[in-house]
Formats: sequence, C-alpha cells, structure tokens
Amino acid sequence: GEVLESSEGHDPLAYLHGRGNIVDGLEKALEGKSAGDKFNITLSPDEAYGSRDEAQVQTLPADEFAGVDEIEPGMQFNVHDDDGHHVITVTHVDGDQITVDGNHPLAGETLVFDVEVVGIREPTAEELSHGHVHGDGGHHH
Ligand code: ZN
Repeated sequence: GEVLESSEGHDPLAYLHGRGNIVDGLEKALEGKSAGDKFNITLSPDEAYGSRDEAQVQTLPADEFAGVDEIEPGMQFNVHDDDGHHVITVTHVDGDQITVDGNHPLAGETLVFDVEVVGIREPTAEELSHGHVHGDGGHHH
C-alpha cells in the first residue's frame, strides 16, 4: 500500500537472471517471461528480504562510531564481518548508547511488485564474469 521504489519515469532496472541480483521470489516469477509481459506479484518476507531477526538489534557504545560527529536515528553504516557486507541502521540514540538494527530495512515486510518486462538480451562475457549487468539500468564502473 506504500510505494517504496519505482522506475516509472526513469530507466528500467536491468538485472542478470539467475544470479540473485534481485529478490528470490521476483526472480522466480520472471522465469520464462518475455518482453511485453506484465504481472503483479505479492511476496512473503521469506521470498523477499527474510524475516526480522531480533538478534540483529544491538546496542553499541558511541566510540564504536569513531569519526562520526553526531549519530542520529536513521543513519546507515556499511559493516563488513564474517557473513560479508551488510548495512546497519541506527534506530535509537541514548547518550553514548547507540541502538542499531542489522536487519534489511524491508525484512519482515510483504512486498508487492508491479512488473513490466521491457526487454531481454544476452549478457556479455564481462557481465557473466561480474555477475551483473553493465550499462543502461545496470552497473557503471
Ligand atoms: Zn561489473
């Protein structure tokens, strides 16, 4: 019921099918689709960004945020740990006690996608080796 993101009026999103570039449920729904196909799909949290894990909510001392002048709720930080790279969001600040949430901001949410397939093409060898699309609607690097 709330629009979170839209490509209307922008370039369409390009992704490399089969590489987990987009959420599971959406990638499955796009399997076998052709240019011109339009559909609407509702994904449970398990098919999208997963359920919320309250163990991902932690309170940290402010000195863990060295170099940040003022920590405010809503700020996001990139964290690298054994599980790879993820984003934590500051949810509460109480003096030098900072509460952060490592869940994806859309974890626990049921998501609705309104999709139109506007084009399909073969990937280049470089895109296959990188695992993502380059150029229009994809990565620029
Ligand atoms: Zn690349």
